[in-house]
Amino acid sequence: MEHLLNCIKEPTVCHKCFEEFKKDPSISPSLRDYTLLDVGFTDIGIQVWCRRHERNVCHVNFDGNQLESDFRCIEPV
Ligand SMILES: [Zn+2]
Repeated sequence: MEHLLNCIKEPTVCHKCFEEFKKDPSISPSLRDYTLLDVGFTDIGIQVWCRRHERNVCHVNFDGNQLESDFRCIEPV
């Protein structure tokens, strides 16, 4: 079940959000708070979209493969 906890090692960040936050860190308590990201499945895979800048951050192409995924939500003990 460990994989259902936060395992993120490298956060996905909008480049424009990063540049704006780097230029003026007072705009938000953290870059994580500043970014406004949507994540969702598309026809080819999964996309990360910046709502602040209305632009693509990352689009992963599954190349037709059906990958294992787990949508269960658990509470850390
Ligand atoms: Zn952005």
